[in-house]
Amino acid sequence: MVELARVSKTYPGGVTALREVDLRIGYGELVAVVGPSGSGKSTMLHLVGTLDKPSTGTVRIDGHDVSALSDRQVSTLRARRIGFVFQQFHLASGVPVLDNVADGLLYAGVPRKERRQRAESALTRVGLAHRLRHRPHELSGGERQRVAIARAVVGEPALLLADEPTGNLDSASGAAVLELLRGLHASGTTIVVITHDGQIAASLPRQIRMRDGQVVA
Ligand code: ADP
Repeated sequence: MVELARVSKTYPGGVTALREVDLRIGYGELVAVVGPSGSGKSTMLHLVGTLDKPSTGTVRIDGHDVSALSDRQVSTLRARRIGFVFQQFHLASGVPVLDNVADGLLYAGVPRKERRQRAESALTRVGLAHRLRHRPHELSGGERQRVAIARAVVGEPALLLADEPTGNLDSASGAAVLELLRGLHASGTTIVVITHDGQIAASLPRQIRMRDGQVVA
C-alpha cells in the first residue's frame, strides 16, 4: 500500500524534516507512528497522504509513484483511495453532520442523493444515526471525531491516515475512536495512526518509531 524509498523532505527555509526514510506498509496493516515532537511524523503522514511531495526519494501509494503523476492524477488518487482524520476534527461549522460527511464524496464524483445515503450509513456505522441533523458545535468532542471518521471513510478508502485522532479526547472517547479504527482494520482498511499515547501504540500490531527525521525502529 505504501512504499517510501530514500525519502527526504527539506522545507523552504531549510529544515530537513525527513532524512532518507525507507518504509513499507502492506495492504491491511494497522500501524502506529510514534516519536517525539518534531521527529517528522506529520511530515511523513503528509507525504503518504499525497498532500506534499518529497524533496528527494520515491513515494509509492498503491503502486503509483506520486512524483510521476500529474496534479490531477494525484487528486484523483487521494479522493478515491485515501481518507484523513486529524486531531482538530476539521468539520465545517454550522453545517449539519450529514452534509459534513456527504461532502467527503464531492471530489469522488458521486451524485448528491447517493452522497447523502452513503453519509447516513457511514454515520450509522460510527454510532451517530441519531445525530444527522445536528451541527458540530452541538456535539461532544468524541462525537465530532466520530463524524470526522465517518467523513474519512464514507468513500471507502483503502488507506486511512490519522494524525493524533485521540489527542483532544478524554480517555473513554479516545477508546471509542480506537475501537472504530480497529473495526475498519478488521474490514480490510490499511490504517496509519500517529499517536503520542504509548498505551494505544503498544496495543497496535506494529509501531514505527521516529527520531530526528528517521525511522529508528
Ligand atoms: P512531528 O509530527 O513529529 O511533530 P513534523 O513533521 O511536524 O514532526 O515536523 C518535523 C520538523 O519539520 C520540525 O522541525 C518542524 O518544525 C518542521 N516543519 C514541519 N512542517 C513545516 C513547514 N510547513 N515548514 C517548515 N518547517 C516545517
